[in-house]
Amino acid sequence: MRYNIAVLAGDGIGPEVIRETLKVMDKVGEKFGHEFVFEKLLIGGAAIDETGECLPKKTVEKSLGADAVLLGAVGGPKWDPQPANNRPEKALLGIRKALNLYANLRPAVVFDELKDASPLKSEILQGGLDILIVRELTGGIYFGEHGYRKDSAGAEFGEIAYDIEEYSQMEIRRIARVAFDLAMKRNKKVTSVDKANVLESSRLWRRTVAEVAADYPEVELDNLYVDNCAMQLVRAPKQFDVILTSNIFGDILSDEASQITGSIGMLPSASLTEGSFGMYEPVHGSAPDIAGTGKANPIATILSAAMMLRYSLGLSDEADAIEAAVDHFLKSGYRTFDLQASPEHKVVGTEETGDLIAQMI
Ligand code: NAD
Repeated sequence: MRYNIAVLAGDGIGPEVIRETLKVMDKVGEKFGHEFVFEKLLIGGAAIDETGECLPKKTVEKSLGADAVLLGAVGGPKWDPQPANNRPEKALLGIRKALNLYANLRPAVVFDELKDASPLKSEILQGGLDILIVRELTGGIYFGEHGYRKDSAGAEFGEIAYDIEEYSQMEIRRIARVAFDLAMKRNKKVTSVDKANVLESSRLWRRTVAEVAADYPEVELDNLYVDNCAMQLVRAPKQFDVILTSNIFGDILSDEASQITGSIGMLPSASLTEGSFGMYEPVHGSAPDIAGTGKANPIATILSAAMMLRYSLGLSDEADAIEAAVDHFLKSGYRTFDLQASPEHKVVGTEETGDLIAQMI
């Protein structure tokens, strides 16, 4: 089969980790008899340099026409002086909205070989950790009305700003269904996270999630307040299977969960819409501090490609092959620069990591 993949490498280490990922995908294509056609498109600072815009129209149009989108990372100090509506990071919100990617999936998995990298005590992680955070991605406070004014009555309050959190039942229902469907394929447990003791939007969230849960009698549903969830994630993270939450809470909790794994360079993500289309990217950013040094860990992007094969292209054996190759890489004693290494480990750079994982497919 032939698959068209839109490739948005972006800035900093983005192009470096993408290059290694395409190498691994080519190897998968060769082994399993598929042809992956990569269309390279501009986004972020690279797009600003070339076209003046952080998200050119062509990038959105071509992405919409592809079978799936693979993204590196955007941003860097070079573009900090850009106006707020044309910063590289703005392109991320823009493309998520344009592609209607309302479901963000972020697995937080502790690889057995890397359990010492977690800042948590090893007994808390005994037997491994595998949490999937399902975050609503196109609604809530990030997309609600934003406002700013100066106190018109005088100087007492000075400047005033607000951001509105708003959710419709439709938005809550569709993200809840994603979470329950995924839970059915995992350990059949959903923890819905909100702040229903304070927020009206959270009360609607909780009620609507309960309605959706009625269609999934096999799945256990728990509700947690976000402050409690933040605490439970470091106290007893193994109680979680699928965490379902809003845009802003998911943003914060998924970063917290990623730190539990101790290795940001290892964490993939998927952003999905109706049907099978989706965009896949590492959780980390463009890491300007190490760009160009050959030290970036490409595994988060390689594992994002595995998610793409599984969720958008329906190629689960191929996805398993990538994940098994990453496991084998670690078990063979290889470590990237960002991972804790002991004297018995062999530390390898970006390119060698890509070469080795491709060979291990
Ligand atoms: P970052 O994730 O880029 O880097 C944080 C730290 O982790 C750095 O020390 C970096 O060297 C390290 N790191 C990150 N990825 C790594 C990898 N694959 N291998 C080895 N080490 C890695 O976050 P930041 O420093 O807060 O942000 C840098 C830039 O990236 C900013 O412009 C920010 O806006 C942008 N950003 C983009 C995205 C995205 O494109 N999705 C996400 C987060 C941040």
